[in-house]
Amino acid sequence: MQKFVLLIISISGFLMSCQKSADLAIINAKVWTVDKLKPQAEAVAIKGNKILAVGRKEKIDPLIGKNTEIIDAQGKLVLPGFNDAHLHFIGGGLALMHVDLNGCKTSQEIQDRIAARIKELPNGSWVTGRGWDHTLFNNGKWPDKSLLDKVSPHNPVFVRRVDGHIGWANSLALKMAKIDAATPIPDGGEILKDPKTGEPTGILKESAMELVNEIIPKETDEHRFLAAEKALELAKRVGVTSVQDNSGVETVRLYQRLLKEGKLTVRVSEWMDFNLAKNPEKLLEAKKEFEKFCTPGRIRLGLLKGFTDGTLGSRTAWFFKPYLDDPSTSGIPQYSQGELTQMICTADSLGFQVGLHCIGAKANWMALNGFAEARRRFGTRDSRHRLEHAQVLRLQDIPKLAELGVIASMQPTHCTSDLRWAEKRIGHKRCEGAYAWKRILDSRAKIAFGTDWPVEPLNPMRGLYSAVTRQNIGSGEPTGGWFPDQKLTMAKAIRLYTLASAYGEFQETKKGSISPGKLADIIVLSKDLFSIPVEEILKTKVDVTIFDGKVVYRRKVHKI
Ligand SMILES: [Zn+2]
Repeated sequence: MQKFVLLIISISGFLMSCQKSADLAIINAKVWTVDKLKPQAEAVAIKGNKILAVGRKEKIDPLIGKNTEIIDAQGKLVLPGFNDAHLHFIGGGLALMHVDLNGCKTSQEIQDRIAARIKELPNGSWVTGRGWDHTLFNNGKWPDKSLLDKVSPHNPVFVRRVDGHIGWANSLALKMAKIDAATPIPDGGEILKDPKTGEPTGILKESAMELVNEIIPKETDEHRFLAAEKALELAKRVGVTSVQDNSGVETVRLYQRLLKEGKLTVRVSEWMDFNLAKNPEKLLEAKKEFEKFCTPGRIRLGLLKGFTDGTLGSRTAWFFKPYLDDPSTSGIPQYSQGELTQMICTADSLGFQVGLHCIGAKANWMALNGFAEARRRFGTRDSRHRLEHAQVLRLQDIPKLAELGVIASMQPTHCTSDLRWAEKRIGHKRCEGAYAWKRILDSRAKIAFGTDWPVEPLNPMRGLYSAVTRQNIGSGEPTGGWFPDQKLTMAKAIRLYTLASAYGEFQETKKGSISPGKLADIIVLSKDLFSIPVEEILKTKVDVTIFDGKVVYRRKVHKI
């Protein structure tokens, strides 16, 4: 009898251990959980696609069975996967498919990069790209088509100079665009021709580039699929496991295909066009169609994305007062207040989350007015409407975000790219409310971090560096940071890029921190972001990316 009881006990013990033992465990780690209840841990156990347990070695050890895959982190930093709260994933992938000729110092280098690109392309496809600079490789003389013809006789090539104003075509591209000795010079442009033969040399300036541009085919579905694969490869490498994406509603089909093929290694919130809110029936119809391609936890409908103004760089961002460096303009709004408020109210009443691109102070103010009116009409609900970029706010408007539960969806690298000229555009005083993430947090409003890739690179290390230094990535200027009182701690910056981003898409109970029961999207980093000098942040690499409980990326470390 005793034996029998023991047997039962040991069988049930065995069953329990089977059930409880982890599929994957990260041990010997410095785990930064982004969970306030337990910020630090030594190990993580994962079962299926979820986190089973987080804690000290003694807590995780009993969960390690003979079939548990073990990652020994060797004391390295472990974080939740990054969640990029605002990007253009397919656009980013397409940008990766173009040839990048930046920094080429010899003709050979240019030919090599183009040849490498051709190898990846379907036969006869266009080779497009940008970045060459004739002052670097051709003694300041314009190059000609023969250099491209040698490496690309069967693919049309059209690559723009680093400034984007001069195009360089090969013979096939010129032929397809019907540009020859007899082609007249278009207004506002120039076609360089050989002084002896009169044949075009391949260099097309300004408006003449259009002659080629207009015959380059728009991307096919297949191109977009390849672009998505490229983007996913990069996302794995830089530790991005969730994306909030503005790639167009049709992209949701493409993500569904990637999911079926087992290739979708990010969770996607895809956005719909805010202009649909002009017509409530159309909006609901679009939602219904969209949701056919959704899969819980993997692909979901995100917010309705609209534009209220333009950009600071092009002086189209909308302000209360004119630009300092062009007093003839205060920017260009995309809607009247009445129209915008009406659309926000329509979307809000139907339960949608709204995210509005707002750069200038007046655009941000106008969006906040709209959100306030929706609340007045329909009452307080957990709407989580967002200001996308929330780039320049009047100081008196900042408290409205917390009051209305509005999230600022910000891109720290925009700050460190724009700080070189932002004060020239709008002056020092207005910049007090520019990229003012600390002020916004201090007002108790929420922020979600992202990149706007491909406007800025996808790598979150650049965002973390920007958030904690407020110094330009290339030059390191200004020393000590631009409006240094707005710098964040590393812990805060990581939080905004993980759990707070998840909050920005209503997913904070499912992901964004390393907590038991949450989805297992976890990364191991090469350096400890909390203890290295800030310059080292940019050199920090992702060693391992775990997505949905599985290792999807391991960095190859080359030993010398
Ligand atoms: Zn964007």
